[in-house]
Amino acid sequence: MKLIRERAGLVASAAAARSGGRSLGLVPTMGALHAGHVSLLEAARRDCDTVAATIFVNPLQFGESEDFAAYPRDEERDSQVAAAAGVDILFVPTIDEMYPGGSPLTSVSVSRISTALEGASRPGHFDGVATVVTKLLSLAGPCRAYFGEKDFQQLVLVRRMVADLSLQADIVGCPIVREPSGLALSSRNKRLSPEQLEQATALFRALEAGRRAIEQEASRVADDVEQTMQKVLSAAEGVEPDYATVVQATTLERRPELSGDLRLLVAARVGPVRLIDNCTARA
Ligand code: AMP
Repeated sequence: MKLIRERAGLVASAAAARSGGRSLGLVPTMGALHAGHVSLLEAARRDCDTVAATIFVNPLQFGESEDFAAYPRDEERDSQVAAAAGVDILFVPTIDEMYPGGSPLTSVSVSRISTALEGASRPGHFDGVATVVTKLLSLAGPCRAYFGEKDFQQLVLVRRMVADLSLQADIVGCPIVREPSGLALSSRNKRLSPEQLEQATALFRALEAGRRAIEQEASRVADDVEQTMQKVLSAAEGVEPDYATVVQATTLERRPELSGDLRLLVAARVGPVRLIDNCTARA
């Protein structure tokens, strides 16, 4: 595995990897790698001749009151995990390397999608995401880029951005990897106590209750399903609910009457961290 810290190194290695019609897969991450990240790396390994992963805790996507400083970082362990998962190129830039002129004057913004849900609670977050993903795609020029459904709104936003800007990469979505308790794996879980890890399973339980309401009890009213999910979150000790909603899966549009392919999404604060989770349902 080749460790690269400079943009020029990534550009050169990615170009060499793509030569002769060979395929390159890119897996952008913020590190503190867990089995969720590994599932993305393995999908890329299966599909592509060369796998590039990036580790960059992107300051642009953190709000002032958010956990940028406290975000878990462990480069040594991450590079072992990446190497074991078959990564060929690991790009770990500094903030100066990614933003050499300081905070960029140019920003990529995907309207509508970026201001709903996570965007409503985290103003500017998705502009930071869209900007850094555009830069990584531009540097590596991958054939495919892999994103987890764990950050479902991010996946929808990246797909739309790539289509709108005609960026030349196929975006591949990968299923959520969970603990046996149902809790979705997240780097932020590392900051939770054993008790808080148990409390955090309320997010998954809320989604399951919402999905049951739609698929088994044939509830077709968005308000009712959302209330069902809210109740589970509110009843859980140590959990401060943010939102619990049901939207159309491809557009994230909320309709009062439920039909077709849906996505249930929840967000809540547990102890020091804000957690998100989601699942599918069909009406
Ligand atoms: P992050 O390091 O949190 O920015 O995540 C990097 C990529 O891994 C994103 O595309 C995430 O959606 C994905 N990811 C994070 N957690 C999981 C999970 N539990 N299952 C699947 N993918 C995940």
